Amino acid sequence: MTLTTSIPFAKPWITDDERRAVLEVLEGSILTHGPRGAAFEEAFGTFLGDDAHCVTVSSCMAALHLSYIALGIGAGDEVLVPAQTHTATVHAVEWVGAKPVFIDCDPETGNMMPESIERALTSRTKAIAVVHFVGIPCRMPAIMKLAQGHGLKVIEDCALALGARYGIRHVGLFGDAAGFSFYPAKHITSGEGGMFVTRHREVAESVRKLRAFGVDRHNSERSVPGMYDVLTLGLNYRMSELQAAMGLAQLNRIEENLKSRQHHFTLLKDNLKTINGLRIIDSNDPQAQSSHYCLSLILEEKNQHQRQAVMGRLNERGIGTSIYYPHPVPRLTYYRKKYGYDKERYPHAEQISDASLALPVGPHLNEADFAYLMDQSLSILEELKRI
Ligand SMILES: *Cc1c(COP(=O)(O)O)cnc(C)c1O
Repeated sequence: MTLTTSIPFAKPWITDDERRAVLEVLEGSILTHGPRGAAFEEAFGTFLGDDAHCVTVSSCMAALHLSYIALGIGAGDEVLVPAQTHTATVHAVEWVGAKPVFIDCDPETGNMMPESIERALTSRTKAIAVVHFVGIPCRMPAIMKLAQGHGLKVIEDCALALGARYGIRHVGLFGDAAGFSFYPAKHITSGEGGMFVTRHREVAESVRKLRAFGVDRHNSERSVPGMYDVLTLGLNYRMSELQAAMGLAQLNRIEENLKSRQHHFTLLKDNLKTINGLRIIDSNDPQAQSSHYCLSLILEEKNQHQRQAVMGRLNERGIGTSIYYPHPVPRLTYYRKKYGYDKERYPHAEQISDASLALPVGPHLNEADFAYLMDQSLSILEELKRI
């Protein structure tokens, strides 16, 4: 059989808008530190909400690292982190010398639960790293109330949550700092890239300096060209003008992008939920507006051993799948060696890593692709019942 259909799990949605925007940068002479970066920051802030201060950076991990530096979190401090997340969420904590304290997630949404945060607090806890799992917003009002009651900072990892809101507020604007990702598989891309976001003007100003070596002033602010001083131990986490031009073109189509994701997610969920032996990760909280990064489903325990086979059959028929995320972070070798791993402590995170698979819902699926994806995934998953 020759395969005629090929539906990747994720594929950047690139149009002539991006091509034109990048070419325009190449035709000029400013390749970094320029007007596109400023325009991307402004447009991103407008999309998120009035009080967002945005700073372009080289990745989401860079945004998270800068968050901890700017908020003064480091050696001797503990940061509560979800066990079920991308390793970047936790690496950022490790890099400032703070200790990550892992907590298990809600089995329904994959998100951190305010109740488990409370149980993990110690006198050394300084911050909570919140992750909006596959775009499902955490219960931020409850988390913020807890954080405020204990004097903790909140850092939001919004890598998969562009367009996610709790109530009317966009995620990333509840806590003290947030990171968004423009890696190719995310909602929008700039090749590589990220956005640091905060409600606090002074934190944004400090990150602006930290992302560029800690230099005291920008080129355009120097009275003597080439003359500057260095105030702090910064990094080079800048985004180029080529990336910013691309990100801006992508952001212009965000509403259409989100609509397509929601449409695909809802239809796929409505169909898959009739199948026994699996459940779909989602929230039924009426305040939670997901960004629908993907549709992640969990096979029930009796079917869990079939995951590899199910993914294999989908892949054979040209349908790309993924796993969010393949291990609870504390089970990854680096963390297991450093802190030890007690699997009893993360049953829900383990279940998501070991029994879930993710299907695509992005705007790269045209109508025919989507119909095929729905048809094939239904028939393959239906077979579970007979096994
Ligand atoms: C992808 C991802 C990241 C990393 O983003 P980069 O821009 O590649 O650094 C961080 N956190 C989460 C939750 C992610 O899914």
